[in-house]
Amino acid sequence: MAKIYFIDVTNRDGVQTARLGLSKLEKTMINIYLNRMGIFQSEFGFPTTAHESLYLQANLELADIGVLRPIRLEGWVRASAADIERAFALVPSIRHLNLSISTSDQMINGKFQGRRGRADILRMMTEAVDTAWEHGAKSIGVNAEDASRTDMAYLVEFALAAKEHGAHRIRYCDTLGYDSPFSIYESVKSLAENTKMPIEIHCHGDLGMAVANSIAGAKAAIDGGQDAYINTTINGIGERAGNADLVATVLAVTKSKGFAERYQLGKPIDLTKAWRLAKFASYAFGVPIPINQPGVGANAFAHASGIHADGVLKDPENYELYDFAELGRGEPELVETGREICSGEYSGVSGFRHLMGRMAMSFKDTEDARPILELVRYANVEAQQPLVKDELLFIARYPQIARKLLTLTPPDGTAIS
Ligand SMILES: [Zn+2]
Repeated sequence: MAKIYFIDVTNRDGVQTARLGLSKLEKTMINIYLNRMGIFQSEFGFPTTAHESLYLQANLELADIGVLRPIRLEGWVRASAADIERAFALVPSIRHLNLSISTSDQMINGKFQGRRGRADILRMMTEAVDTAWEHGAKSIGVNAEDASRTDMAYLVEFALAAKEHGAHRIRYCDTLGYDSPFSIYESVKSLAENTKMPIEIHCHGDLGMAVANSIAGAKAAIDGGQDAYINTTINGIGERAGNADLVATVLAVTKSKGFAERYQLGKPIDLTKAWRLAKFASYAFGVPIPINQPGVGANAFAHASGIHADGVLKDPENYELYDFAELGRGEPELVETGREICSGEYSGVSGFRHLMGRMAMSFKDTEDARPILELVRYANVEAQQPLVKDELLFIARYPQIARKLLTLTPPDGTAIS
């Protein structure tokens, strides 16, 4: 039986969203949390973007030393041979790629303005796939942007061309959030049956159906005999109305009525890591978690009305579908209400040693602490808010990798492209 896997795209779709962004250290922490949770793959960034390359290399080093393992780190690249060349020039050790190109007539005509047609799209995509193999790629997914508005026969032709050139998966992108669970089911099932390729389901929330569409799409892929790879973001952060929320989608797959009896995860997911991950992403993005967010919202396990409170006290299952402890909730959180020492870009060694001492991280002496403090100051320049405990500990444990993450050297004027 085919299975469901998760590919989180917070570090790509999430960070390309208007008004939102993450520092390279924050992106790294997201990858670490996703790995601990058991997520199959993180779309960890843009290998053709100059300021991203040291971050990507540093994360691939973390994979080499076992910190970011077994999660698969995959880069998003436009499906053009020139972009693939640039990706491997900037990040030579990248091995997993998703190559993206628009497939709907709306976008082909609207973006290329008559300069390119359907045949050109097929040629560009297959050239890009071939080029990626030549440079040592180990896995390739091909993204059909605006798949939900793409002519079905052409979408199948596109996927089969990708398959013929060795691509492992086709990403069905409902780029505008146009599908409903009914329409995506039909499209993805047909795509699975006609291509016999594993399918990635990439949904947006413009009509409020990103999670519902994701599980309908996953069901369709599996009913069509193929593995499903659901794309998500943490807290549903993403372009416009956002993407399918990671935690809500995992809950939908594992807890919704009758679903998990037939449609199962290919790899266990540790939901007890969800609370910490969601809180960190909220802090790093500077976007509060909605009070009614599934699983991790402040009200997800709150009861006030007499009948509900009485019922849940007698038996939580009266009014709760799952337990807060399953999401990693329930531990008290310490909120400082008095004197506080925070990290900052102008921190000094005394305050820093005090801060680290509170996390049971001690330094031999002041000189021992200084190099780590220096890295912490640089991290604060990028984050512009106090670092959290896990970030401070990461820097202290992996100073060389942190140094790489924090190095941003713009190319000189002549080299900028
Ligand atoms: Zn998207």
